[in-house]
Amino acid sequence: MSSINVLLLGSTGSIGTQTLDIIRANPDKFRVSGLTANSNCTLLAEQIAEFRPPVAVIASEDKRAELIEKLAGRSPQTQILSGYDSVVDISRELSYDVLLNALVGFSGFRPTTEALKAGRKVALANKESLVVGGELLQKYTKDGISNLIPVDSEHSAILQCLIGEEGNAIEKLLITASGGPFRTLPLDQMAGITPERALKHPNWSMGAKITIDSATMMNKGLEIIEAYWLYHLPLHKIQAVIHPQSIIHSMVTFEDGSTKAQMGYPDMKVPIQYALTWPARIPLETPRMDFSTLRELTFEEVDFARYPCLKLALEAIDSGGFAPAVLNAANEIAVHRFLNREIPYIGIPKIVSEALLSVQPDSDITMEALVAADEETRAFAAQLSI
Ligand code: NDP
Ligand code: MG
Repeated sequence: MSSINVLLLGSTGSIGTQTLDIIRANPDKFRVSGLTANSNCTLLAEQIAEFRPPVAVIASEDKRAELIEKLAGRSPQTQILSGYDSVVDISRELSYDVLLNALVGFSGFRPTTEALKAGRKVALANKESLVVGGELLQKYTKDGISNLIPVDSEHSAILQCLIGEEGNAIEKLLITASGGPFRTLPLDQMAGITPERALKHPNWSMGAKITIDSATMMNKGLEIIEAYWLYHLPLHKIQAVIHPQSIIHSMVTFEDGSTKAQMGYPDMKVPIQYALTWPARIPLETPRMDFSTLRELTFEEVDFARYPCLKLALEAIDSGGFAPAVLNAANEIAVHRFLNREIPYIGIPKIVSEALLSVQPDSDITMEALVAADEETRAFAAQLSI
């Protein structure tokens, strides 16, 4: 395999740093074309010094001088840019083989759109891109997913289950969910959940936003929307199933009743690396399944009373239009306000549902209209008293 040039957006985050672990372990297979961060210039400077990319961007304009100071001339060949627009510009213009989008939230949408529009290949961790812009992005994805490869473990599992199944009818996608830290908490205690408790995920260590989304299961709702746009199936054929051990990462049932599952101990490096090398596989040091100690794999139905955010996400994709973009923006603000202790945990679905009722733009779906809907929803959700 010749070396793959990777433009990594969000290199200082949970997915970003794990992507660099993979690149570091395979210096002959990968090269870094560019790195970006929002404001963490200490870590970005170290990454630039180590990987010496042609370009790096710090999205917060006011951190540029600090980044250059921390870099202390260690990678003179790296062009240092600043500002969020530069993140968007390099996604469209830089020379690279694959863009790995590990940005969080709506910030990932414009880079994904510009890269796909320019005919580039995107490995997508930023599921919010597809939640907000799935309909728009269909115009730019070539044939199925050959230029849009999922990093999310569930969608990677489905991709792996579909190998060799071209032309065979899928009856159901079963998207597994751990159920998060509050799967068994008595419902009358949900109001008292603190950010500290919600930030402790039982199986995965991830960035703060997706960890809260996993607790509310909004994450599973976003993933059902992501699967809807990636795999082009009607919504009733995409189902979430609670599987507390997070060993089976998702399953596909075919029309002959056969179900395929993809398994492994939870480690995002597996789907990250697969997205970069797909359809090939390369070696990875990660714990192998040990069936002599594995005692049980269990499954439960989802209870919407416990996870109202999942129900709201299903309603939003069923409504279509701007509803998924409104859902996403309201959720981002609600999660932010919960982490800031401005609203209780149970205020998150309240904000999202109020936003879905109140923000209903009436225009064609374009990138500009989606950006405007996002802004309008953020303003609405930020001032709503709960
Ligand atoms: P993190 O919060 O850990 O990292 C986010 C990255 O994006 C950081 O590099 C951050 O920079 C940068 N960033 C944040 N906001 C902006 C902005 N406004 N403009 C430019 N850059 C920005 O997130 P995760 O790595 O956990 O998640 C990334 C994406 O991957 C999400 O969409 C998530 O849903 C998805 N995902 C994550 C999984 C995981 O295991 N973490 C699993 C599956 C999917 P800085 O560090 O400077 O703030
Ligand atoms: Mg996932």
